[in-house]
Amino acid sequence: MNPILSIDQEYVAHTYARFPMEIVRGEGSELYDETGKKYIDLGSGIAVNIFGVADRSWAQAVSDQLLKVQHTSNLYYTEPCALLAKAVCERTGMKKVFFGNSGAEANECAIKAARRYSVKKYGEGRSTIITLKNSFHGRTLATLAATGQDGYHQDFGPFPGGFVYAEADQLESVKTLAKENRCCAVMIETIQGEGGVVPLSDGFVKGLRQFCDENDLLLIVDEVQTGNGRTGALYSYMNYDIKPDIFTTAKGIGGGLPIGLAVLGEKCQDALAVGSHGSTFGGNPVCCAGALNIFSRLTDTLLDEVNAKSAYIVETLSALPEVKKITGKGLMLGIACQKNGREIADAALQKGLLVLTAKDKVRLLPALNIPWPILQEGVDILVRVIREVCAQ
Ligand SMILES: *Cc1c(COP(=O)(O)O)cnc(C)c1O
Repeated sequence: MNPILSIDQEYVAHTYARFPMEIVRGEGSELYDETGKKYIDLGSGIAVNIFGVADRSWAQAVSDQLLKVQHTSNLYYTEPCALLAKAVCERTGMKKVFFGNSGAEANECAIKAARRYSVKKYGEGRSTIITLKNSFHGRTLATLAATGQDGYHQDFGPFPGGFVYAEADQLESVKTLAKENRCCAVMIETIQGEGGVVPLSDGFVKGLRQFCDENDLLLIVDEVQTGNGRTGALYSYMNYDIKPDIFTTAKGIGGGLPIGLAVLGEKCQDALAVGSHGSTFGGNPVCCAGALNIFSRLTDTLLDEVNAKSAYIVETLSALPEVKKITGKGLMLGIACQKNGREIADAALQKGLLVLTAKDKVRLLPALNIPWPILQEGVDILVRVIREVCAQ
């Protein structure tokens, strides 16, 4: 057995159900283990490696910045941080960015900004945030509290209060909670990723936007997984023709380095004042230089390609009688098969294909620039694996 697996099992906390393989290197959407066996990657490090691994353009931007200055503290200005914030605001029409280091931290910031906005305008007490059942917003205590799934809460209480959970896709449920509680915001994922790649309907999201406007509730969209081109739009809220008051993003924008953004719109752009929030590593110039490289490559041409590849995957897999349902959008797809997703993912690994799972589904989150021949080879393997596993 590869000694790294046993060392990891002895010394690393057992919080992950790891697949039994060590990744040692790769190129784009192809990865290699320590024996030199090749794998096609349709998971991209859970929607992180948008342009695959060892991406030269990103690596160059990162190493150029590394050799200038790797960290300064937030007491000084740096160019990558300022230019990344400008680029994100200019393309989304939002007004200000707070930089943290993860999706959970981005959501923590959104929660703080929404509460402070409300306190400044209405005074104390109007601090509850409505989130959705089956959501996922992170692993810190507050973002766990925001996560509407009991399974994640087990054994970790007490939690910070101020979160109530509405039924996803049921506007009446949100309205009832807004009546029963003094609320400042509603937070959603447009496609519940960890929840099983479950999209919200157009009517619900548009209705929610209107309800939030009428009641001065801030609409927070968690774009940690759905953002940065993943669904075929720059940010997934754009698929619904709405604008959030705050959106958060992380995962893909960093190109593999840790970064999280809370992006504030017009209404709450000044909700956070000097001293009210901060982070030692937030806005780190190396992470921002890499993220600016990634973000500037999310062109309309790339988004068109995402949609074309998505259509190809959906068309190919939905032809299989073993596939019950395909959900999601762009290159964020959930595939419900006759057998559990983990069984299929385990079998795929043996055949040199990396896929993810979400609840009972197989989840695909390939690099947005995955070359067509590699995608086709990967989908061919997946078709064979689904057939084999479901025939057993
Ligand atoms: C992954 C994820 C998070 C948490 O991001 P971390 O970087 O792991 O803290 C939050 N929200 C959604 C929707 C996610 O998919």
